[in-house]
Amino acid sequence: MSEHDEELGTPTINKIESLRLVITGVMVTLALSITLCVCLYYDSSCNTTSVRTQVYKQVTIPEYFAKYKDVIMEADRKVSDNVWQMRPCMHVCIQDLHGFFAMPLRQIVTPKQIRVPGDPRGYRKGVHQGIDFYGINSGDPVYASAPGVVIRIDKRYLPLEKAKRNELLKLCETKWNGTPGSVVTPRVDEPYGNVLDKLSGRQVLVYHGKNTQNEPIISLYAHLSRVNDKVNVNDIVTSDSIIGYVGNSGTSGEISGNGLLENHLHIELFVGGMYWTPKKESEIGQRQSVERYASLQATVLKELSGLIPSQSKQ
Ligand SMILES: [Zn+2]
Repeated sequence: MSEHDEELGTPTINKIESLRLVITGVMVTLALSITLCVCLYYDSSCNTTSVRTQVYKQVTIPEYFAKYKDVIMEADRKVSDNVWQMRPCMHVCIQDLHGFFAMPLRQIVTPKQIRVPGDPRGYRKGVHQGIDFYGINSGDPVYASAPGVVIRIDKRYLPLEKAKRNELLKLCETKWNGTPGSVVTPRVDEPYGNVLDKLSGRQVLVYHGKNTQNEPIISLYAHLSRVNDKVNVNDIVTSDSIIGYVGNSGTSGEISGNGLLENHLHIELFVGGMYWTPKKESEIGQRQSVERYASLQATVLKELSGLIPSQSKQ
């Protein structure tokens, strides 16, 4: 091949190269556009700000879970290795929790057996942060509501003494204007600590990983008669794992020694420092009409029965 041919050939190769570059550029732009559209779609379908402000209520103690920080760090590794695989939906649509948490009980529960999170609690002048299930028996098994890692399991629980409990309740009413650790009142320094925690009895906490906004997702199970001794902190549990048994620990029934009184399961579902409630902001800490309350009870049951579709499926 002569020098001349080579000179002739160069522009031809340049043209082909340019064409290739243009085609590659168009394809890259197309791929980026598609990726952006998908991201925007998930963002708009999952990051439902309006739903979020309606169904979550900020707890006044952002450090509520601070004491579990180290165990959460350890649990994070297990969550990313295992739990994401169990519930891959969590990556994109956990913000509103629809379809994430399941019933912690196996028996059939009717809406009337449910007390809704966000209700007023007169005896301690505070707000109820959890879902209560009544009409069940002491010793009934309690299951984790979603796959996760156990971050607290009270194996050495000691009941509050009657005098101490009464003192705390009196202070809630007269000095603190509500229960410390509840949504309406500030945290109280030691020696009182988190009073709400003391009134919750024997508990288990399960960490479910973080949502896309890096907020921890945690479920709490309270008033248990006993915990599953085979389960330990840092164990992976699924929604088929028994973590404890229904009881009345932390309630007036435990104090009075009446084994039957106040038996119920109390669970709290948290994202970041917010607990889940189907109530509107204006309804938190307020009583509702019978009709409205019945609809809230039904919503809780539907949510935990997986009957409310995930936002991303709509
Ligand atoms: Zn409760």
